[in-house]
Amino acid sequence: MESSMEKRIERIKKQLHSQSYKLTPQREATVRVLLEHEEDHLSAEDVYLLVKEKYPEIGLATVYRTLELLTELKIVDKINFGDGVARYDLRKEGAAHFHHHLVCMECGAVDEVQEDLLGEVEKIIEKDWNFKIKDHRLTFHGVCHRCHGKEAKEKYKNLAFE
Ligand SMILES: [Zn+2]
Ligand SMILES: [Zn+2]
Ligand SMILES: [Zn+2]
Repeated sequence: MESSMEKRIERIKKQLHSQSYKLTPQREATVRVLLEHEEDHLSAEDVYLLVKEKYPEIGLATVYRTLELLTELKIVDKINFGDGVARYDLRKEGAAHFHHHLVCMECGAVDEVQEDLLGEVEKIIEKDWNFKIKDHRLTFHGVCHRCHGKEAKEKYKNLAFE
């Protein structure tokens, strides 16, 4: 039986074909890295270094062009968390809108919220601004649950020494 990754690659291949692009071995290697790191938010350089492990002869420009093509075809989304680095994020299949991000200001971890949760907000915007929403980017900046625990412990420790 084909793995879900192979099936996904097959679908991406079709998407490229429908726009008259080929899934060349280099492009496929790039797509595989993105699929293998689906939860991560890799920069072009990160993707390049990972593709290079399997394709030592590949150049950064090739990887970069592939990422731009995948962005154009809406297979990936280009995002920026305010650190000036463009990151590439695979779009979830079948999701009408882009997922949300929780960026931890303590450890830098990025968590994803797949549920849209914006139904009511979108209704108000569409009605009051007569604006048809196609998509959105939402990034929350705060302290993640991992650091939150640490923070509380630190506080407790300090209290104990006071
Ligand atoms: Zn994401
Ligand atoms: Zn939405
Ligand atoms: Zn954190």
